[in-house]
Amino acid sequence: MDEAVRQSDRRILLADADAFYVSVARLLDPEGAGRAPCLIVGGSADRRGVVTSASYEARRFGVHSAMPMARALRLCPKAMVVPVPWEACAAKSRHVREVLERFTPVVEQASSDEFYLDLSGTEGLYGGEPLATTATRIREAVRAETALAVTVGGGTTRLVAKLATNVAKPGPDHPGAGVLIVPSGAEGEFLRRFTLAELPLVGPKLQERLRHFGLRTVDDVLRRDRATLVAWLGEREADWLSDRVRGVDDGDVVPDREPKSISRDETFAVDVRDDAELERRLLELADRASADLREEGLLARTVTVKIRDADFTTRQAGRTPPEPVCSDRAIYALARELLHRLRRARRVPARLLGVALSQFVRAEAAAPQLSLLAAPRLAGAESERDRVLARVLDEVRERFGPDALARGRTPAG
Ligand SMILES: [Mg+2]
Repeated sequence: MDEAVRQSDRRILLADADAFYVSVARLLDPEGAGRAPCLIVGGSADRRGVVTSASYEARRFGVHSAMPMARALRLCPKAMVVPVPWEACAAKSRHVREVLERFTPVVEQASSDEFYLDLSGTEGLYGGEPLATTATRIREAVRAETALAVTVGGGTTRLVAKLATNVAKPGPDHPGAGVLIVPSGAEGEFLRRFTLAELPLVGPKLQERLRHFGLRTVDDVLRRDRATLVAWLGEREADWLSDRVRGVDDGDVVPDREPKSISRDETFAVDVRDDAELERRLLELADRASADLREEGLLARTVTVKIRDADFTTRQAGRTPPEPVCSDRAIYALARELLHRLRRARRVPARLLGVALSQFVRAEAAAPQLSLLAAPRLAGAESERDRVLARVLDEVRERFGPDALARGRTPAG
């Protein structure tokens, strides 16, 4: 009960953009994508790959994200297909966050278009206005400044905010309420409408176990006493589920801080003496670090390579190219040059190799500068093609796992 009392004062919101990728694609091309009712975003240039997002009209035909593009086009042959506008999506996402941060500094980004906000203790700031009023103002501010529609759900916990957002969201057959706040004390009643499968973190495996005991809905769980649930599920899981079906969730909204550096290193099982082998390891490390960098929507000004020799001497070398970088190709090219420099200075077997990226700039802040990068290709300078290619690879890896794309050859090799 203590938990419920402590939680009763919390004011948590989730702002989630409606059909994010589709909306951004439409804003970029109002005459084309903006006018196509059935719009599918994703895939590759040759209409293969998978759907990243589909418009509500296309969803009515059964198209959904992660579906193979070929199948999506069989279901909805008239659909217009456009690639994911990564740069524009990152910029929009950043812009939405900036608007939200004016309402509270406690903003946590859960995905490219989902943001948790904690407004606890801000009642005074907002003249005691009801949370639903604040949520509506947030929604209007985001729409006015970014041209994106967001659904805002809220309540005393993250779990309740998430479920409220799902209820208030538009769908293929309904416009959605746009804002839904579950009042403090009403969480239990609100939760009764859900099946267990609809609760976040109740995955397919757990659902199957619960079904075995005749538990399919929140109500099914509420009807059992604790002793029965404990006998079936064990104490830990029974208590977790009991909290869950009552909307109890003590997770906090943790404001994101930008990282100062992103690094990957590897300690070898057996010391590596061969330069070609070190280059191969370096390529993997550079790929992983640069994927993390792009995931954060950042570019790095400085690339550093660290090597620890067999006798535990640690050496490093860094370079700051004229323009910031984020592609696999450019980062590996710079890292390789640094590795060569370190190896020329001292060529003994290596115990550890690492790549670090630092001195970040936001991708969208760097964009105008980068577009000035004209024809002459500096070593380690990257082109628009490099950046687009890198993001396409990220998408494929995200969907199919890190080993989906074996490299045929090393870039800049
Ligand atoms: Mg969304």
